Amino acid sequence: MKEGKLIILVSPSGGGKSTLAKKLFEDFPDLEFSVSATTRPPRKGEENGIHYYFLNSEEFQKKIEANEFLEWEEFYGGKRYGTLQSEVDKKIKSGYFILLDVEVKGAVNIKNIYGDQCLSIFVQPPSLEVLKQRLQARGTENDETLSLRLERAKEELTYADRFDQIIINDNLETAYAQIKQAVEKFMK
Ligand code: ADP
Ligand code: 5GP
Repeated sequence: MKEGKLIILVSPSGGGKSTLAKKLFEDFPDLEFSVSATTRPPRKGEENGIHYYFLNSEEFQKKIEANEFLEWEEFYGGKRYGTLQSEVDKKIKSGYFILLDVEVKGAVNIKNIYGDQCLSIFVQPPSLEVLKQRLQARGTENDETLSLRLERAKEELTYADRFDQIIINDNLETAYAQIKQAVEKFMK
């Protein structure tokens, strides 16, 4: 069987990855989500094994030591996030296209490992002010986590040109049409 490929949607938190990914899953039934591991607590509606594998710090640390991560990063005041090699391997070997939702450094690492087998798309918010408004409107952040995410976003935006494509998420439908076109081309 032909091996699958990887698609990475990357952006600062609040850039619109989850919203755009949801649309891709509706349009591309062959797309599978790569479920990451994290030590942050679940948000309302998030389920273990579907949105993330929610681990405590000891469990996460054990997986680092056992070399189970393709990449992992620590941010937002000590929370860890990582892509499990097993998660990618099992799906890619079954011929699936996998969608990864990771932050910029993890995305650069994965792109470096998989090269042309990976399409990396940077979803760029129209401005930091709009990003702030969207994060506030999402209602998931308190003052502290909001400022941590915005602080990190400033640095993350400087990574945009390391990816295969930059898509500005101003109007959602326009941004999605561009992503859909890129994904269709990559999947052919
Ligand atoms: P991420 O997954 O990158 O953290 P989300 O997909 O959760 O970002 O988007 C952050 C918030 O912004 C959500 O409430 C979402 O509904 C909203 N949003 C995303 N894209 C747009 C857009 N183009 N215009 C207005 N609101 C948007
Ligand atoms: P959230 O807490 O909003 O779900 O995610 C915060 C950030 O962690 C997002 O930018 C998301 O893309 C990133 N992230 C999620 N999973 C991983 C992962 O496995 N590796 C890395 N490097 N970042 C991840």
